[in-house]
Amino acid sequence: MALGTPSTRTDRARTVRDLLATGTTYSFEFWAPKTEKGERNLWDALRRVEAVAPSFVSVTYGAGGSTRAGTVKATEQIAADSTLTPVAHLTAVNHTIAELRNMIGQYADADIRNILAVRGDPPGDPMGEWVPHPQGVRYAADLVRLIKESGDFCVGVAAFPEMHPRSTDWDADIHHFVDKCRAGADYAITQMFFDPEDYLRLRDRVAAKGCETPIIPEIMPVTSVKQIERFAQLSNAHFPPALKERILAVKDDPAAVRSIGIEFATEFCARLLSEGVPGLHFITLNNSTATLEIYENLGLHQQS
Ligand code: FAD
Repeated sequence: MALGTPSTRTDRARTVRDLLATGTTYSFEFWAPKTEKGERNLWDALRRVEAVAPSFVSVTYGAGGSTRAGTVKATEQIAADSTLTPVAHLTAVNHTIAELRNMIGQYADADIRNILAVRGDPPGDPMGEWVPHPQGVRYAADLVRLIKESGDFCVGVAAFPEMHPRSTDWDADIHHFVDKCRAGADYAITQMFFDPEDYLRLRDRVAAKGCETPIIPEIMPVTSVKQIERFAQLSNAHFPPALKERILAVKDDPAAVRSIGIEFATEFCARLLSEGVPGLHFITLNNSTATLEIYENLGLHQQS
């Protein structure tokens, strides 16, 4: 599908696997709102994104399943009331296998065929002890198998350009990632990162194991000083010192901070595209303005 061409009903039911087979994908990530105001913000952002006909949009699953009903509701509404193809995130935290099967069944009933299967982190401290539910699953690979056994779903998984924070060595991390792909994952989306070399090293390491699962880089535009620390806390991503220095030099000028962040993200995306990435997945924080600006800077914004 050409960029800028509004999706049809058939496009919406397409899988990320099909979309990746037809060319580079451009996608946007949202979270499920908890309030009416949040819901309005989400839909404002979704409508703006809808105008550029992205390949798909994804809706995260709150830590510990905290937005469980909200994620189902938001993805169902996107499937029913927009031209967008939704991907529902699902995590294993605090869920029995029966509950997970029930969630997967709800997605199937809503005609949602795309699920991003991530293990999830413990609520509160993401690096706290990960205790599987006694009747649940332990690793994302088990969740992938459960979803694949449950129906004709296209399943994505998480990838970590700077290694999963719980892994102690690269060999084991890559081994488990490849196992997760062989469990049936159709593609992966990375954790946020800020150095293209980290992505390229991960891609080479995975390819060296004979695994060809497409790995889509996740793009997080930095638009405020506050975000720098927040991102490090959330993702363990290494923030480039030179970028931090540039941003801190203009910290009292929010417009200048935003402009540096957008310029950096645009160059970052351009480099990744020149390296032949299968797609770009933009984190929007439910406010699509910055991501759409980057999209436009890359020459992708051709509204119909
Ligand atoms: P796994 O693949 O299970 O890996 C977890 C750890 O266990 C890794 O260190 C791995 O190497 C190791 N491991 C795997 N298999 C084995 C094995 N057989 N034996 C020993 N060790 C093993 N979190 C949310 O709560 N909600 C979301 O919606 C959400 N969306 C995300 C989207 C993306 C694109 C990404 C990158 C992350 C997302 N997260 C989300 C965060 C995610 O849940 C955490 O980063 C979590 O720690 C990721 O685990 P995983 O799915 O990679 O787990």
